[in-house]
Amino acid sequence: MDNSNSPICCHPMECKTALHKVGGTYPYELDLNVYRGCSHGCKYCFALYSHKYLKSEQKSIQEDGADASYFNHIYAKTNIAFQLEKELSRLGRSRMRTRPPTQTQTRIQTQKSLLACKTINFGSVSDSYQPAEAEFSIMPDIWKLMIRYKNPVVISTKSDLILRDLDLIDELSKVASVHVASTITATDVSIQKKIEPGCVSTARRFEMLRKMKKTDATIGVHMMPVMPLLTDTDENLEAIFSKTKEIGADYILGAALFLRGETKKSYLEFIQNDFPQLSNRMRDLYKTGHLDKKYKTELYEKLDALTAKYDLSNNYRRVDKEGRKRDEEKRRVEGWTHTEKPMRIEKKERQSTLLQFC
Ligand code: SF4
Repeated sequence: MDNSNSPICCHPMECKTALHKVGGTYPYELDLNVYRGCSHGCKYCFALYSHKYLKSEQKSIQEDGADASYFNHIYAKTNIAFQLEKELSRLGRSRMRTRPPTQTQTRIQTQKSLLACKTINFGSVSDSYQPAEAEFSIMPDIWKLMIRYKNPVVISTKSDLILRDLDLIDELSKVASVHVASTITATDVSIQKKIEPGCVSTARRFEMLRKMKKTDATIGVHMMPVMPLLTDTDENLEAIFSKTKEIGADYILGAALFLRGETKKSYLEFIQNDFPQLSNRMRDLYKTGHLDKKYKTELYEKLDALTAKYDLSNNYRRVDKEGRKRDEEKRRVEGWTHTEKPMRIEKKERQSTLLQFC
């Protein structure tokens, strides 16, 4: 479904919960999404399903299909900073209540829980710096809260709007571990514009990461997904690795396109419409429901060889572990500085707004 020329409608909404627990093997425990829906409009978007869980009164606008609605109807959680403050303050109080212990063993245990703050991932099902953020400006308050609680953060964005908050990110990176990454899939401008029509160019994303190097944040490139037959050329992979090395990123992760559900349907439709010459081969590669094993093995061998050639790390977890250890050491030396008084956040009343794709 091509909705790249449709207007984008942004709606304010109130959320009941800011943080959500994350299961599985992710290198973070909590997740925070400032927006529902994402106007970046990536053809491989895995989050299309998420609009189905909006409240029933909001479903009335989804007449043009769940995926079109996901890209064109964006919900901004205007009260999320208030909500987050409440949740973090509650977490902080429960930590404070367990102090001081009477037994040495308990004291060691309590110290451990005070030191180990849970990492929050910003934006698992939407981009926190999509165009709506320029209008709603929700993220600065979120960063201020992270600074106040010295809370570790992971964020991946395909926008350089994040540079607006560079000073806040810099401040946080001095007191807690911060990971800033960008998904980078294609260096060919015409292909990139087709697969990610609402995003800034690949060159601007690399430039954003290069500027982020001024902070103490860990910088990463997520070459995810690598799209078979489209972005898997030696030329494209080599260019991304080479640029990653040039900007001094700390790591690069690559993974092949995984297709299922709504995403599989809309992605194969996109290939049929925009790259009809690839359609049969593409369907063939995914005919079992998973990507062809032989193709996948060869791709990962290629990625490993490039990682070695450019002497880059692909071990996100090692980088993360080092950051956490550094955080714990800082907390141990400086002590726990959380105070019970909540931070004052200005409440902003917002109306629905119309944006256009950039
Ligand atoms: S930036 Fe992420 S959430 Fe937004 S459309 Fe692209 S893949 Fe989906």
